[in-house]
Amino acid sequence: MKHFPIFMAVDGRRIVVSGGGDAALAKLRLLMKTKARITVCAATPAPEITEWAARGKLTLAPRALKPGDALCATLFYAANEDAAEDARVAAIAHREGALVNIVDNLADSQFITPAIVDRDPVVVAIGTEGAAPVLARAIKKELEEKLPPVLGTLARVGKTFRAKVEALPFGAKRRAFWADYYFNTGPRAMKTGGETALNPALHALLADHLHAAPKQGRVEFVGAGPGDPELLTLKARRALHDADVVIYDRLITPEILELARREAVMLDAGKEGFGKAMAQGDINALITDHAAKGTHVVRLKSGDATVFGRLDEEIEACAAAGVAWSVVPGITAASAAVASIGQSLTKRGRNGAVRFITGHDMKGFADHDWAALACPGEVAAIYMGKRAARFIQGRLLMHGADPATPVTVIENASRPDQRVLATTLGELEPTLTNAGLIGPALTLFGLAPRAAIARLDTAFHPQEAAI
Ligand code: SAH
Repeated sequence: MKHFPIFMAVDGRRIVVSGGGDAALAKLRLLMKTKARITVCAATPAPEITEWAARGKLTLAPRALKPGDALCATLFYAANEDAAEDARVAAIAHREGALVNIVDNLADSQFITPAIVDRDPVVVAIGTEGAAPVLARAIKKELEEKLPPVLGTLARVGKTFRAKVEALPFGAKRRAFWADYYFNTGPRAMKTGGETALNPALHALLADHLHAAPKQGRVEFVGAGPGDPELLTLKARRALHDADVVIYDRLITPEILELARREAVMLDAGKEGFGKAMAQGDINALITDHAAKGTHVVRLKSGDATVFGRLDEEIEACAAAGVAWSVVPGITAASAAVASIGQSLTKRGRNGAVRFITGHDMKGFADHDWAALACPGEVAAIYMGKRAARFIQGRLLMHGADPATPVTVIENASRPDQRVLATTLGELEPTLTNAGLIGPALTLFGLAPRAAIARLDTAFHPQEAAI
């Protein structure tokens, strides 16, 4: 970030604009939204500027800028649309102590003016450091459509009520009050009674909140999907947006954590597969202790919370502590992995069942019904299967599986660094060890990448393919 965004207090302060053409007009239209004292120096001012001066909206000096004109100015705009004249006036303004912007000259400007979405007192400023004005305009358009015009009125009236809301304890309770006002009560009151209905509505709402029963804490077990933030469900996004506390696992990507509410307490309960782990009992206590304080806890688990996620243990801890809980399903790694290779988990005439198995359980390498899996056409999604690969390979071959059975390992499914390793049961090891995968990987037993996908996928290495 080369430009640090701030909102500057300009009420009653001087802003000087040099220039009277289109560039100056564009800046003046923005500046006139403020209560700054605006002076324009222009030998040939546009008629609008003359008219604004006549109406007392600004002071016009109908001549070129000269030394002394920028004294005591907070901001200065060189908007002459003439590089030599801009450089001359900018040098004067510099000497006289103003912060200088030269229109369409990023390199010589001390500050830049962002694109603005105005719902005063809510103001959104969009800047691209000059890199992509088209993008800034597109974002502005999108926000203009998203932010209802009543927002400004709600915020303005809300501001006058802030002192009264201090009757509510600081933190979650006040936040709940304002969320209720901005998203429910406020818009409803505006619709039925207009602006004058807002103040009575605020009083009634405050009375409700002051006398409300103490907030009950609750826990949402939320599936965060395989890593791509676009694979979050809308419910998961909402939960992240509302949470007071987010307790997340090691596999949750930073892009997803970014979506949590700014003020949310973020707690890492990362359990390294084989390394130092936070004991399950400690995680349970963390969840229930926070919920018992009346907070909304989001327990964020990778993929789907119900798949190899130790969900039951945490639910039982909630039940034992008398804490309300619910589950928000997510997209499990197997779904993302199979999508990435263009196959389906089940297929008419091939397999009418699919197994989700783990390479590991509490006792070590996990045992399964290998004889059943070894039959032709079987498909299994193997979680936590990297270290157990040789064990799984050995068991399946021992039970008569065809060594030519396709096996595909998908590392970092759905993420930008996704890799696909297509091999066969006979060659699974040492191919997997040699590939040196370090991210989470899902093994699809019985499935090869669809040929068309294999040809298209640049991350896919043909020499590793045995299809
Ligand atoms: N609840 C999760 C699974 C947790 S177990 C889910 O539904 O996906 C952790 C295992 O999930 C990892 O060892 C790996 O096998 C698999 N996994 C999770 N995210 C993955 C991803 N993005 N790509 C490939 N495998 C993944």
